[in-house]
Amino acid sequence: MYRFSLALLIICLLNPLGWKIEGFNGLTFSDPTSIQFDSFLVRQGRALQPRFWTDIFLLHQSPRYTIRGSINSDSDVIDGKMEVKYTHRGREAINNLVFRLLANAPTLYGGELEIISASQTGKILPYQVNSDRTILDVTLLEPLDPGETTAIRIEFRTKFATLGGSGYGILGKARRAISLAGWYPVLCVYQDGWQNPNLAPVGDAVYTETSLYEVELTAPRDYQLVSTGTTIGRVEEGERVWYQVVSGPAREFAAVLSPRLENLVSQVGSIQIRYSTLPGDNARNSPQDGLNLAAEILKSYESRFGRYPWNELDLVDSSITIGGFEFSGMMMIDYDQRFERSRIDFLWLLAHEIAHQWWYGLVGSDQITAPWLDEALATYSVLIHLEDTYGKDRAQSMLNSYRIRADEVNDTTRHFTDPAQKFESWQDYNRRVYYQGTIFLEALRGEIGDDAFYRLIREYAGRYRYKIAQPPEFLALAEEITGRKLTDFYKRWILAAP
Ligand SMILES: [Zn+2]
Repeated sequence: MYRFSLALLIICLLNPLGWKIEGFNGLTFSDPTSIQFDSFLVRQGRALQPRFWTDIFLLHQSPRYTIRGSINSDSDVIDGKMEVKYTHRGREAINNLVFRLLANAPTLYGGELEIISASQTGKILPYQVNSDRTILDVTLLEPLDPGETTAIRIEFRTKFATLGGSGYGILGKARRAISLAGWYPVLCVYQDGWQNPNLAPVGDAVYTETSLYEVELTAPRDYQLVSTGTTIGRVEEGERVWYQVVSGPAREFAAVLSPRLENLVSQVGSIQIRYSTLPGDNARNSPQDGLNLAAEILKSYESRFGRYPWNELDLVDSSITIGGFEFSGMMMIDYDQRFERSRIDFLWLLAHEIAHQWWYGLVGSDQITAPWLDEALATYSVLIHLEDTYGKDRAQSMLNSYRIRADEVNDTTRHFTDPAQKFESWQDYNRRVYYQGTIFLEALRGEIGDDAFYRLIREYAGRYRYKIAQPPEFLALAEEITGRKLTDFYKRWILAAP
């Protein structure tokens, strides 16, 4: 095919001496001939800036999702068919693939995801859904050995959450905008067994490997799409519109569709930032303000944490109940809060969510068992942006407000390193994980000095890019960077936790 051949030619020209990825510490492969070039991979490159195209080929064994979803906006349902191509990178053969059904998590997503069928090479597969309906366990036709690849198909139907229901509003319809998060079965992480910790009633639940998505969505003709990745096809057919999207490296695939969105676009280098807003007058933060802030934040994070690889960063107004919510390459921003928040609070919200493009999107972590790792880093990143852009005093006054909030908890036995399941209220979760976690990072900076701290953050972002990091790895990296043992410091902050 034309696109495939042209892209492959360009990549080969860029790599005349073979595959050598400068400045990329995360992934290596010794035998370039083992990579299977195919049109799926080449299309994925269209979500990335050209200088990061080769990242796709380093991720050639990552899970690949091909999903077709048809949205019925009258019955608030999306009917989906997906194929997951999975290469087993564990050490033992496996008999099953395990998926999270995020839509069914009542206090987070609040929708209903029903599995209709699972199959492999045309044969029906047995499967089980656990009692709270958030885990799907599919039995393969035969065991999958390490290094082997298989593809299975799943047909499903997802009903959006009820308006004003128990979820965050990230899977549902309000103000004629459909928010689609957690709408399809997503593979759990395999690391010495399938990792599927019980979901908590608070916090985030996406704990996934970097994956590659090609998604086709059909919707009523006047619906515009904002999503993870880059739209590579759009066709109107009768009363319907069809979109084709590639994600590039992504933790999940989320989208917002609405006939009411208005777009503002800005450019940071070769990254397009788009703020898609719903209409309304007298917002305290106009779409243009939001776009300017987002551009400024993206620039300061790129200079501190390393480059943002995708072509696009999308912000979109949504009727969600928790301020903002991060997804790969996009974030939903609460429409009401754009109208009501003070400028500094709105800046905080954008800076926190954009930081998740690094601390969640690029560097994955277990958001259920160790939520502080990405939340404290995202909250600390706001201080970094304030200090770099507006000076130390602005950062200091924000830090002071964190110190006050960190102690406003009901259950003082809770610690910032606790898993999300240990928190019963959002307030305690937020105060400890976000703010106490940030104060720990500030203390770490005081302990090792500014220079080592910034090297730590940058190295962490580079070394674990597209991978998953656990807290011990972050803590050990600080020791590696400084060349000293931080045991006493960690004991005071972490090991002595109640
Ligand atoms: Zn967050």
